[in-house]
Amino acid sequence: MTNSMNQVLAGRLDQLRSQNLLRVLRQVDSPQIPRALLEGAPVLNFSSNDYLGLASHPELIEASAQAMARFGFGSGASRLISGSLGPHQELEKSIARFKRTEAALVFSSGYATALGAITSLVTRNDIIIIDRLAHASIVDAARLSGAVLRVFPHNDCDALEKILARYESRDRDQQKILIVTESLFSMDGDIAPLKELVELKERFGAWLMVDEAHATGLFGETRGGLVQQFGLTGAIEVQMGTLGKAVGGAGGFIAGSEILIQYLVNRARSFIFSTAMPPANSAAAAKGLDLIAGPVGQARLERLRRNIALFSDLTGRPPAAQHSPIFPWMLGAEEKALDTAARLRELGIFVPAIRYPSVGLGEARLRITFSAAHSLEEVERLANAIKKAG
Ligand SMILES: *Cc1c(COP(=O)(O)O)cnc(C)c1O
Repeated sequence: MTNSMNQVLAGRLDQLRSQNLLRVLRQVDSPQIPRALLEGAPVLNFSSNDYLGLASHPELIEASAQAMARFGFGSGASRLISGSLGPHQELEKSIARFKRTEAALVFSSGYATALGAITSLVTRNDIIIIDRLAHASIVDAARLSGAVLRVFPHNDCDALEKILARYESRDRDQQKILIVTESLFSMDGDIAPLKELVELKERFGAWLMVDEAHATGLFGETRGGLVQQFGLTGAIEVQMGTLGKAVGGAGGFIAGSEILIQYLVNRARSFIFSTAMPPANSAAAAKGLDLIAGPVGQARLERLRRNIALFSDLTGRPPAAQHSPIFPWMLGAEEKALDTAARLRELGIFVPAIRYPSVGLGEARLRITFSAAHSLEEVERLANAIKKAG
């Protein structure tokens, strides 16, 4: 009998192992700070998306403690049942202010945000067109929506235009088109041509959704993201962001028109059928946004950019886009990425090897991420180590 579930699964895991694609959880016993404790050993951490070092900021901890003291820990129910607590509503007001949109809606994760928004905006009759490197949550949402899914090569507006042209003669009243991209790409660190995308979607009567998971807090006048930096806030129908990266908390959000938000409250299933995030979480995220928009955010962003520039100088490698905190160190073969990450680990440096399915097969890489919390000396240590290990 070779059909017991455990035997079958063990066989599948063996196959992943032989392809260098097996993943395991590794225990971290410290906050997300540069000097982390990984599996009991001190490491210099260049793996986190805590770009501004806010995840363990005392003011976020204090804000969440206060919310917990007043509201308890759990939210008790979904927002539409009884869980729409003060801190959630406050957070949404903060996000709308921060993103300069009419309104915002918070979901318990970024993944749930993409799922809820996309599946409620387009259905079987419609068309969804996504960048080839769009995040898994966008891909999964697109598939789940049942809409016709088209993929354009990464950041290739000519290819996107050709796809759009194919549907030009269709009745837009009957068939909506939604284009979805990230603004700062999570695994490649480069930036979408947002202006061109807006032009295209306007020319063809399509809608545009931009996932700012990695750009929120790092670009724009008040650090609202790349959409803000490009001056496109009013031109993009759906802005998505997450609270678990630079903001230092957890969760995701959609920012846009009042009507859009009202619609999502009524139709986004991952919002409707899911318990509200803990109020402590909302309070911490609101504090994170507060800090980001003010002098703390400004100072930390400068420190982050200083670290990016130093690493770039020391290694002779420019960032994937100006001020991008994500450095993909391309290695190709999965085994090579694992070996290089292991050598860095021996040098006391934690940089994850990113492999399929986070990136394509044979596109494995180290993904180095910088934080404002890194010191110049720590960045130097990384640069030296990577020369030795690479
Ligand atoms: C991290 C991420 C998400 C998912 O957000 P979570 O809050 O971690 O679930 C969605 N989109 C992009 C581009 C991301 O990087």
